[in-house]
Amino acid sequence: MNATSTAITRRACMGMMLGALVGCRSSAIARVASGPEIAITIDDFNVNAETPHLDADSRNAAILASLRAARLQAAAFVAGKWVDNPEGQQRLALWSEAGHVVANHSYSHWNYPRVDFEAFSADLLRAEAVIAHHPTFSKWFRFPYLKEGATVEQRDRMRAFLKAQGYRMGYVTVDASDWAIDARLRKRLAENPMAPLDNYRNFYVEHIWERTQFYDGLARQVLNRPVRHTLLIHHNLLNALFLSDVLQMYAQRGWRVIDAQAAFQDPVFASEPDVLPAGESIIWALAKESGKHTGVLRYPAEDEAYERGRMDELGL
Ligand SMILES: [Zn+2]
Repeated sequence: MNATSTAITRRACMGMMLGALVGCRSSAIARVASGPEIAITIDDFNVNAETPHLDADSRNAAILASLRAARLQAAAFVAGKWVDNPEGQQRLALWSEAGHVVANHSYSHWNYPRVDFEAFSADLLRAEAVIAHHPTFSKWFRFPYLKEGATVEQRDRMRAFLKAQGYRMGYVTVDASDWAIDARLRKRLAENPMAPLDNYRNFYVEHIWERTQFYDGLARQVLNRPVRHTLLIHHNLLNALFLSDVLQMYAQRGWRVIDAQAAFQDPVFASEPDVLPAGESIIWALAKESGKHTGVLRYPAEDEAYERGRMDELGL
């Protein structure tokens, strides 16, 4: 809602009787909700990793606290291998207890085009066996590296398998390279534990904003409507330190951050784009399928290589 329409709504509301005011307020909320929306989805859950600066429990607690402060429920796309141990299970349990969706990101985090269907589908079920006892487990699946198959047969066998198993696709709309910034941050802190971190935060927040604008613009062109976005980030030190800054950035720029459960109700997540190689952001894949936008569709869609020059320049 822009400033003018807010003022008009307020003026209209002020003249109303109390009974009508309730309706007036809910229509104002409905109009706010029509602005851009995005949910937070967090991949891998390498929760036991040793990193500089924060230990595993502090890192896990910091990410959870950022979401709690924003009253948000995220989706956790968990690679089973990282939580197939008592400490990992305890750390993941905190997510389910806080109401966040626990979802499947395979066990071994293989790149599907490099393994065969039998091995990959068995690996998916192996992950399910490790995470399905968490109360908020949902049969949502996200491919590691967002790589969904190199051939029609590989892609379509997995799509059929997921349906038969009762899974839906946990597509990403806004893809980014938080993991690459995180790697730089950890390297710097390993060299100098007192290194100032402001530039990492600033670069990270602007990177997420830039990729969000790109995928949102593309979505509006391809679908002729706004979508409920899902941002891909990872369970890492960078987000333990700066997820709250990312959430604040969205609020300041007029975006509403919503629960993952609500975002995945958007019909875009039932799409099955006919492109090869299959994968990347669902918006990227739909844009590719349309045959237009070829000038803006790089492959891979996101990578460390695209951010390296700017990170070098900034001394990150
Ligand atoms: Zn992953």
